Amino acid sequence: MMVYYGTRKKLKTVKQLGRMRCTNCGHEVDASLAKETGYFHIFFIPLFPVFGYKIIFCPCCGIMKKLTNEEFKEMKE
Ligand SMILES: [Zn+2]
Repeated sequence: MMVYYGTRKKLKTVKQLGRMRCTNCGHEVDASLAKETGYFHIFFIPLFPVFGYKIIFCPCCGIMKKLTNEEFKEMKE
């Protein structure tokens, strides 16, 4: 029997930040404040989180910037 397991990423948008220039790819994009969490799964059932990032999400390249907890808190308000 094959056992399917591995990690899957989940992106959760927290707040829309509006138009801004991405510092990673240089495009002007609709950026959003987001949390990206990686889950370990077996048969695609998430079991536990293996990593979590607080990021500014760029729809063009993915991650514009990883944020510290303080930066995330500031931008959320
Ligand atoms: Zn970008």
